[in-house]
Amino acid sequence: MPHISYSELKNWNHCPFYHKLVNIDKLKVFEGNEYTAFGTALHSVCEDLLTEEISIPKPELFNQKFRDEIKKLKSEELNKKLIIDMFEQGGKLSEQVLPSLDKYFDDCEVFMAEEKLYEPISGFDDYLFKGFVDLIIKEGEDYHIIDWKTCSWGWDSRKRSDKMIVYQLILYKHFFCQKYGINPNNVHTHFGLLKRTSKKNIVELFKVTSGQKRIDNALELLHKAIQTIKSGVHIKNKLSCTSGYGCEFYKTKHCN
Ligand code: SF4
Repeated sequence: MPHISYSELKNWNHCPFYHKLVNIDKLKVFEGNEYTAFGTALHSVCEDLLTEEISIPKPELFNQKFRDEIKKLKSEELNKKLIIDMFEQGGKLSEQVLPSLDKYFDDCEVFMAEEKLYEPISGFDDYLFKGFVDLIIKEGEDYHIIDWKTCSWGWDSRKRSDKMIVYQLILYKHFFCQKYGINPNNVHTHFGLLKRTSKKNIVELFKVTSGQKRIDNALELLHKAIQTIKSGVHIKNKLSCTSGYGCEFYKTKHCN
């Protein structure tokens, strides 16, 4: 059955035509780089640390996974100095994940790591929401949804309250509650920043408010996206062509 993920919704919100190129036509321009390899390796370390007995030192676990991710990249384009720094940064972060969680939560147990959501969307009998929740902690009657984000020094206040970034956690909360029949009042949402270049507080957890109003707004956007995707109309949002990091399709044969 057709489905939509948060990253698809983000693409559509960036530009409906961009969504068409990436998610419908499956054009792939960006193949990954040192930063995505680092993020993938560290996410995998976090999952292992929370679900398995690890017999090797945590930095070594990171090194193994990062090495595997780097091998998948085109070697001629790699920044060797950056990669050497990343081995050290990833090792330090791997050691801080569990102590940071212990400090942040009073008494917690892992409910699930890498929880898969594949849930019906109310109002659409032919579309599912798909997502992977990095970590769910249970604390008494309460559940805490955590999404890990790798970054350099951290996030500024604008990014912390960015509507579109926050909607990821909001949608995960909504569909997690739907899947398990849990009262949303008992579910809380947090980002876990894994900061590569910061000197202190390198694993920072912070809470994101996820009340009913935010849930309604996120669902409204999701419904609008599905309706327009299904209609086959893919409008070009020219405001996104050069804003931020710009669009990889700008002035290419795919979009000019
Ligand atoms: S170049 Fe602009 S219009 Fe074209 S896909 Fe990218 S954001 Fe959309």
